[in-house]
Amino acid sequence: MTDIPRILKALKRRFPNPGAMELGDPYRTVVGVALSARTRDEQVLKLLPGLFAAFPTMKALSVATVAEISGKIDTIGMFRQKARNLSGLAKLCVERYGGLVPSTMEELVELPGVGRKTASVVLACCFGTPSIAVDTHVHRVTNRLGWVKTKTPEKTETALLAIVPTKVMRLVNQVFVKLGRYVCLPGKPRCWTCPVQADCAFKKKNLVAPKDADAIVADAARREESLETSRLAVAYGKHRS
Ligand code: SF4
Repeated sequence: MTDIPRILKALKRRFPNPGAMELGDPYRTVVGVALSARTRDEQVLKLLPGLFAAFPTMKALSVATVAEISGKIDTIGMFRQKARNLSGLAKLCVERYGGLVPSTMEELVELPGVGRKTASVVLACCFGTPSIAVDTHVHRVTNRLGWVKTKTPEKTETALLAIVPTKVMRLVNQVFVKLGRYVCLPGKPRCWTCPVQADCAFKKKNLVAPKDADAIVADAARREESLETSRLAVAYGKHRS
């Protein structure tokens, strides 16, 4: 039987940083995760200091026009749609929850632009509620490992909620997003540098390290360090409200 806590803890030792959008409070986190849909975390972390400087609170965001919000996020794809969503999200939070981010799945997924994945990140990171945010990385990696056999992220979430012990649920998104980004790539996985290779059921493992293996590993470490530096600047930077 798979020892899920042991595997998650082994991965946490390899990838100790929090998720890139764990931004310290519910307002920042819900905005960051909503903006990161189909956009690289690096791009989102780059624009967030300017966005939060202009709109340091949910209330400030709620009275901004869509054009004003668009002007702060126009470096990412679908920025007009995302600006409309942020505006609607902020207005709803002010009207219904006094400017706070709600703390249940049912309430969160009613906010414009917030799906189960975003809601699960907010619940796990900001409210300590057991939940598992499943994106394409988590879906792919947990299927390759053999933990689940599912066709969609939604089904993966349901399956994982049934098998992952509550006390380690929070680690699932943190470590599998990083494993998927740097090691268990969508095309050819880098099994030769995978810390959980011995626990993986994937039949087409890629175990031969390429000639530039050291450079690949160093590049991944640099990318992760840079992401963490950017995350800390947004979460604890001078614009914090
Ligand atoms: S051994 Fe390979 S396929 Fe399995 S989790 Fe690691 S990188 Fe992915």
